[in-house]
This record gives sequence, structure tokens and C-alpha cells, in this order.
Amino acid sequence: MSTPTRIAFIGLGHMGGPMAINLHKAGFAVSAFDLSADALAAVRAQGVTTVDSARAAVAGARVVVSMLPASRHVEGLYLGTGDAEGLLAAIEPGALVIDSSTIAPASAQKVAQAAGARGLAMIDAPVSGGVAGATAGTLTFIVGGEAAALERARPVLQAMGKNIFHMGAAGAGQVAKLCNNMALGVIMAVTGEAIALGVAHGLDAKTLSDMMAVSTSRSWATEVCNPWPGVHPNAPASRGYSGGFGNDLMLKDLGLAVEAAMGVGATIPLGELARNLYALNKQAGRGGQDFSGVVQLLTRLP
Ligand code: NAD
Repeated sequence: MSTPTRIAFIGLGHMGGPMAINLHKAGFAVSAFDLSADALAAVRAQGVTTVDSARAAVAGARVVVSMLPASRHVEGLYLGTGDAEGLLAAIEPGALVIDSSTIAPASAQKVAQAAGARGLAMIDAPVSGGVAGATAGTLTFIVGGEAAALERARPVLQAMGKNIFHMGAAGAGQVAKLCNNMALGVIMAVTGEAIALGVAHGLDAKTLSDMMAVSTSRSWATEVCNPWPGVHPNAPASRGYSGGFGNDLMLKDLGLAVEAAMGVGATIPLGELARNLYALNKQAGRGGQDFSGVVQLLTRLP
């Protein structure tokens, strides 16, 4: 039997934790690290080996996967901060780096370039599918980087997800992820607005949603994550907007989309409006709720 590939996994939060567990279950030799003791304990309870620093995790690893909150965490980890040397210097020559965090395309390019200068292949591989997809191993990976690096990464990605899209060179995965989430943010807000309008006219929210779900405005927001309480028993709206994809994460992604648009002079009027709506929703104290709670800006719910 061949020795299992050693993988360092850094960032064991809502997404990274279940992703690391799936790699372990698939037979990879995972060495995991997070700054949070609770996050470490949660994966250890599932049999994953944990270590006490990112440097210890990458020792001997052929693949490094990171799943961190935002650009500054990813740049800080790999490139270093102040006097602290970045992790790229400690990764074994010839290893492959996969960053699955959602970050600015420019940050992804900057880190990939620094990795390349050290002879390390790197891909940006942000994901879609949420915590449910991370747990079930059904994530969609949206990849930027060299095709050869993606082929090396494929068996690792397949242990955590079911769809893989190669979007182009370094940073292209992040651009595509922002396009998806910007569309989602706009669609969710207008779906809530449409249902609120119908309800104000005395329509039943569920009958209206059922009609929309088989008509031309059908979307994931009407069919799966409906923003109106009680329409879908399993949607966050039916449990006080708890769980799901946080308003603050959507706000972060829309901010990245605005930044990315400015970088190339693109106009995204609806994306910018949506960013303001989710920012207002956060100011109203709902930053930690599921993003479908944005509907509460538009109406008083039953
Ligand atoms: P999270 O905050 O739950 O987890 C991030 C983890 O990174 C935390 O446990 C934190 O302690 C750890 N961390 C931060 N800096 C670190 C460092 N230097 N070294 C080691 N660990 C460090 O976030 P999440 O929900 O798991 O999301 C991770 C990324 O995935 C984000 O970029 C997010 O936008 C993206 N994403 C999230 C979802 C979702 O539904 N939660 C869906 C798709 C994409």
C-alpha cells in the first residue's frame, strides 16, 4: 500500500473543519492547525491529527490547504506580518498550495506570485455550497491558476466537493466566486421585496413563492432559501434567520465585488445597491443572521 499524501490544513472554522474531516475520511494524512482551541478540538474529536502551529502543519506536507476568513488573514499567513516570516518560506519545495478562502482577486494573485517565486504551485479555489456542502463533501470549487496545478489538486478537491470549474489564471477563481455571490445577493434582496409586495396586497407568501418557483423568476432564493418565514420549514427564515450564510459574509463578498469592479472600471449598479442593503441590515443589528434576513429592512414580518 502506498503512503497517504500528507496534507496541511489551516483554518478549521465553519467550512474548514468539515473539509479537513472529509480529507481525513478519504484517507489523506491530515495535519491540521487553527488559532482557536475549540476549532482544533472539534476536528480532533473526528480523528484528525492537530498540531500547535502552521509551521508544524506544513512540515513534510505535499499539499497545503487554507480556509481563512479574509484577504488579510491569507496574506498574513503566507507572506508574513511585520517581523514574522510568512509560511511560504517553510513549505516543502515542490509542494502544492490550495487557498479556498474567499478573498480579493488581487490578494490571490499577489500570494500566488510569491509562491511561484519560491517554486511552489498555487491555486485559488474558493467554494460555493456553504456549511451543508462542506459537511456533505459536495462543495463546488471555483479555481484560478495553472491547469497543471489544478490536475495535481483534483484528487484533494474531489474528496471535499463534487463540482470543479477552472476559470482561468491566478485570481480568476476569486473573480468568478464574487460574480456568483453578487448575483445571489441581488436576487435574494429582490425576492424578499417581491414577496413583501405580494403580502402587502394580501397574497399568501407560500402560494406566491410556489408560483414563482415554477415561473420566470425562479431561483435558489425562492425555491430553497426562501426569505419569508414559514414558506420553507428548512430555510433559515423559518428559524429566526439562524444558521445559513451570514449577512456579514455576504457584505464582505459584495465589498470585494465593488473593489474588483473599480479595479477594471466595471459598473455594477445593482451590486453596489445590494452592498448598501446588507450594510444597512448589519447596522440594524442583523449582521450575524442569515443574509436572507435582509427582507426585514423592507417589511414588518408576521
Ligand atoms: P470561520 O470564521 O468560521 O473560520 C475561519 C477560521 O480561520 C477560524 O476558525 C479562525 O480561528 C481561523 N484562522 C484565522 N486566522 C488564522 C491563522 N492565521 N492561522 C490559523 N487559523 C486561522 O469562517 P468560515 O465560515 O469557515 O469561512 C471561511 C472562508 O470561506 C471565508 O473566506 C468565507 O467567506 C468563505 N465561505 C464561507 C461560507 C459559509 O457558508 N460559511 C461559504 C462559502 C465560502
